[in-house]
Amino acid sequence: MRPDAPMIRARTRSVEDTKSLAANLAELAESGDLLLLVGDLGAGKTTFTQGFAASLGISEQVTSPTFTLAREYHGRLLLHHLDVFRLDQISEVLDLGLPELLDSDGVILIEWGDAIRQALPNDYLEVGLTFIEDQPSPPNERIVMLTPVGPRWQARADDLAAAAGQWLEGPPC
Ligand code: ADP
Ligand code: MG
Repeated sequence: MRPDAPMIRARTRSVEDTKSLAANLAELAESGDLLLLVGDLGAGKTTFTQGFAASLGISEQVTSPTFTLAREYHGRLLLHHLDVFRLDQISEVLDLGLPELLDSDGVILIEWGDAIRQALPNDYLEVGLTFIEDQPSPPNERIVMLTPVGPRWQARADDLAAAAGQWLEGPPC
């Protein structure tokens, strides 16, 4: 089901922008939160996660969890980082890890999370990262769409907009 909540649209112009935006969002994060990171390969999902993790006080280098189901990092909050790009990752998370993960403490960030949307609670922040179309250059710009789905994040909609502050583009659509 596609979320119908209002979206916040932002534009970042560098890796640092995307990390800073993610860092601002991490300041709003609470244990039990779920974020779905959606976007093509190279759009910036892992980059976003790195900024998010740093803001939680995680000093460890965050990389894509390619060979493990979920990586766990300890900061102000526990961070669970998943990537369900590959079919075997999807089936593994659906067969084994998901209920336990959703029950555990901390924040969950799932790259390609839209692939398992139907198995997730309807209560998450969707972070959509897209390249700018018709853009031969500069290649470092990304549109970042924030869609709060369900009560947890909708209650923080104003804070979300404030967190995206300097990168906001136009009114929510
Ligand atoms: P994904 O996890 O979505 O596949 P990554 O975060 O691994 O993407 O890679 C994003 C790539 O795009 C990196 O090489 C990064 O340096 C580059 N990049 C350029 N501009 C941006 C930006 N504004 N935000 C995020 N990444 C960017
Ligand atoms: Mg990635």
